[in-house]
Parts: sequence; C-alpha cells; structure tokens
Amino acid sequence: MNTILIKNGIIVTLGENNKVLRGHALLIEGNKIKKIAPEAEFTGKYDKVIDAHGRVVMPGFINAHMHYYSTFSRGLGKAKPSTNFLEVLDNLWWRLDKKLTLEDTYYSALIPMIEAVKHGTTTMIDHHASPYHILGSLHEIEKASNLVGLRNSLCYEVSDRDGEQRAEEGLKENYEFAKYASRLNNNSIKALFGLHASFTVSDKTLGKAVEMAKDAGVGFHVHVAEGLADVEKCQAEHGCRVIERFHKAGVLGNKTIAAHCVHINEHEMDLVKETDTAIVQNPESNANNAIGTGDMVKIAAKGILLGMGTDAMTVRMTNSLRMAVWMQHLTHDPSQGFMEPVNALAFNNAKIANRYFEGIGVLKEGYMADIVIMDYLAPSPFDENNFAGHLVFGMSDAIADTTIADGKVLMENKVLKLNFDVEEAYAKSAELAAKLWERF
Ligand SMILES: [Zn+2]
Repeated sequence: MNTILIKNGIIVTLGENNKVLRGHALLIEGNKIKKIAPEAEFTGKYDKVIDAHGRVVMPGFINAHMHYYSTFSRGLGKAKPSTNFLEVLDNLWWRLDKKLTLEDTYYSALIPMIEAVKHGTTTMIDHHASPYHILGSLHEIEKASNLVGLRNSLCYEVSDRDGEQRAEEGLKENYEFAKYASRLNNNSIKALFGLHASFTVSDKTLGKAVEMAKDAGVGFHVHVAEGLADVEKCQAEHGCRVIERFHKAGVLGNKTIAAHCVHINEHEMDLVKETDTAIVQNPESNANNAIGTGDMVKIAAKGILLGMGTDAMTVRMTNSLRMAVWMQHLTHDPSQGFMEPVNALAFNNAKIANRYFEGIGVLKEGYMADIVIMDYLAPSPFDENNFAGHLVFGMSDAIADTTIADGKVLMENKVLKLNFDVEEAYAKSAELAAKLWERF
C-alpha cells in the first residue's frame, strides 16, 4: 500500500482527547492513518515524505450544511433586491434552481469541491435542489465528488412548492439514491433524505418521506425555523412550532440534521435533545439574509449536538467560525459564545459526520487520512489548552498549504494535484452559468 509520512509539523489531533503534538510524525498507509508517534520511530522507507516545516497538521474540515447548486449565482445581478428571507427565496434561489440542468448541477458541484480542496475541507453534507431536473441529479454530484476525491453526503430537497409531480420526483430521487448509497457501501458517498422546510412541505408529502426514509434506513437533512415565516406558517397551518411538527411526524432522530434552528424555543430544544437530533448553524448565511442569530450558547448548554455549516456562503470553514464567534459576542457579550462555535466546527462536525461516515475528523491511528496542513506558524505558545484561540484568531486567517483526502494528496504546497483540467472546468462552468443567466 502507498505510504506517506508527514513530518516536522505541529500535529493537532482534535477528537475526544485533543492533543497538540510536537516532534511527532504521522504515517498514512493506503487511505488510513497508520501511526502517529515521535519522529525517531519512523525509520522505514516511504513512498512520499511531506515536510510540514513547523506548520499545523490537522484533520480536514467538515462542512455540515452546503448547497452546491448555488454556484452559478455568483455575480448574478438579475435578482430583485429582497427585503426579507422569503423574498430572497422567491427572487433568487427559487428562480435559479428551476433553471438548473443536470450538466449545470454537475459543474455547480465540481467548482466548490475544487475550492474545498484549496481550503482544506474534505467532507461535505450537501442539500440539493434542481426542481426541473431532479432524477439523476444526485448522481451528477456524486460524479463530481468522485472526480475530485472528497467525501459527500447527498440529498435532494423535497418540496411541494413546484407542485405534486416535483414533490414525487424529489421523494423518488432521495429514496433511490439512499438505497444506492447503502448498496455501494462506500465511505466517500453517503445519503440523507432531504426536505426543503416545513413551510413548503405538505403533511401528505411529509408522511410519504418519513415512510421512505425509514425504509431506506436514512435520517433527514432539513431547514428548520430558518426565518420567522417558517414558524408563523407552521403555527397557522399546523397549530404547532416547526420542531414540534417534525417531532410528531417522525423526522427527528440521531441521523437527522436540523439546519439553522434560528427561531426555536426552549421546548423545541428539549425535543431536539431528547431525540438526539443534530443542529447545524450557518452564521454567515443567517447574517447575509438578516434572519437573526441562532443562540449557540443556549443550544450547546442544552447538551444538543451543535455543528456548523456554510449554507453555500463559502467552503472555507474558518470564515464561518469567525462569523459565528462575532455574532454570538454581538448578541450576548464578549465573554460568551466563543467555545460553542469552536466546538461546533472542530469537534461536533466530526461527531455529526461520523453518524454517516466512518472514522473521520480526528487524527488517530485507524482513522481515515483526511488531513490539511495549514500554513500557520504559531507566534505565541500553542498547546491543547489554547488551541481555540489560535484557531479563531490565527489559523482562521491562514491558508491551507496541503490537502489530503482518503490518503490522496489533492493539493501540495498550495498547488492543486487534481487529475483533471481545473481551468477548463471553470471555463465550462462560466459558459453554462452565462447560458443559465439568459434563461433566468
Ligand atoms: Zn440551507
């Protein structure tokens, strides 16, 4: 098996027993971490040796809520200015996703995956929409994932907003992809059952989704109480709050991701905790859409598994981390809301991802070799106890130097090592985006 030795770095293991190791090296064999030990113990011959030059070696980042399909919106100036979240959906996202072809879906996914490699993000949990080309869309994203060499959990966002046929196709796409992923049994491709949000899913569709997800053996990935409109519509039409509706329907559980949860009350938090559902917050997106700030302090204090996503704002996870810290400080006070975002990104995203994938998010013998070397030299003492301070105030501003996923070097010394023409991929994306803009 192919071996890679990473030496002369500061190894940050993360995981339950986070260690900051100096004078240690890390050996990769095949796609797994074979050994982490003092450098003197590595005397063999290795296929490749990477000298980290005193920089930080840590697990690849995990993005727990992503929408690849938003790629072609960059620079799109045709959407009307929106004064609230529903207008943002109407004027931009629900116009854009209707125009996506399968080829658009493929390139929309390929581009952010290339960028993920550049930022050391190796695992993503995506939530896809392309309501006029639903069937086969998840396989397009899978194809991009395999080409780049990342780990992806995929789902299609079922919704009644485009009528019954689209809802039916969405159900089918999730179900078939979930069955396929289960047969495939590949640690790089997993499935969840996607739902858009309570306010666009009827009881009838929700009931079908719950049955199908149960049969396929997967949990849900759904937007929850992202804007107040979701809560108000749920109360008006179903006489309860969003988490209460999903709890009653059987959507919650330890394989389910409730994205956002900005507007949930204490009782809903209790239901989330009781069912061991994960919450994934998306601070940059929430600020951008002016929908409010989720209370990470309160949610974490409840003992809920709280992770972090980007909602497609970026694939550079440390951007979201910083935004989360600033927003928590702003809405509480500067003494609160620091460790909650750090824990969400550095530790809890791995716990969430390990509900689907196996052995990721921690540098540990036997775990998958998903590794980033951050171009960060510590200018002050650096150990386990102050790792969080270095992560937020230093490493967040550093760039990734080398990215390894599943034991394969995808970027080295800031040069991409992908086995396809990256510039050509961008050119094709720009060409397809221009065509989509004409239809927009
Ligand atoms: Zn989202």
